Amino acid sequence: MIRFNKVSKTYPGGIVALNNVNFSIAAGEMAFLTGHSGAGKSTLLKLMSLMEKPSNGSVHINGIDLSQVTYQQIPYVRRGIGMIFQNHNLLMDRTVFDNVALPLIIEGCSHKEIKKRVDAALDKVHLGNKLRCFPNMLSGGEQQRVGIARALVNKPPILLADEPTGNLDPKLSLEIIKLFEEFNDVGVAVLIATHDLGLIARLKYRTLTLKQGAMINDGLFEGLQGE
Ligand code: ADP
Ligand code: ADP
Repeated sequence: MIRFNKVSKTYPGGIVALNNVNFSIAAGEMAFLTGHSGAGKSTLLKLMSLMEKPSNGSVHINGIDLSQVTYQQIPYVRRGIGMIFQNHNLLMDRTVFDNVALPLIIEGCSHKEIKKRVDAALDKVHLGNKLRCFPNMLSGGEQQRVGIARALVNKPPILLADEPTGNLDPKLSLEIIKLFEEFNDVGVAVLIATHDLGLIARLKYRTLTLKQGAMINDGLFEGLQGE
């Protein structure tokens, strides 16, 4: 699903954000990505979503070598990845239904198809009764769940989450992770970038740890070095 082979990224000005990173995540796997601020987590996510290109090495997503992707093909490749953000990026002047429908409208689905798939996605995140609400009528945890429904409404095989629990308390954070587990159970590959070491320690998932751009651990979490 996701494969990084000897990937390095140097930004203009010479900052090495990633240094010879190797890992792969299979279909139906779930893993955390962690490291101090500046360790290279966002860069790694940006390489997967084609917002940056590697300086060296190759990135494969859903069997596609990203170095071969033309500018016109970028939207197609991105559709294979559901992205979830800390601040969920919801449109505040649109209803929950309309927010979740957005990716399907862009894809050009029929009204009937949109209704069916948005209802199904909102049911999965337990918000079937809130479709006519506006985001500011919802709690933080509910808003994050709308973001998850939107990311998954077109059934991408990969889910990438960037600090998805950043604004949530531990109980709500666990609820969000449980939702990810439900999608993971039906075969979605899930990668969660987080600083939340408490969460990582409790859940015992495979954890990729970056330090100054290098992958210093891949397995059960052993702590962030240098603290
Ligand atoms: P993290 O997400 O773990 O905080 P980043 O991937 O954002 O790490 O950053 C890794 C390193 O690359 C940092 O030193 C950061 O300052 C640098 N960096 C990130 N984006 C850019 C950019 N667009 N231009 C130059 N340097 C960048
Ligand atoms: P060149 O060979 O001249 O670098 P590219 O085919 O790499 O041309 O890029 C052509 C245009 O497409 C540029 O404007 C570039 O910014 C954009 N582009 C190429 N690849 C990506 C990408 N992975 N993500 C975003 N924009 C891209």
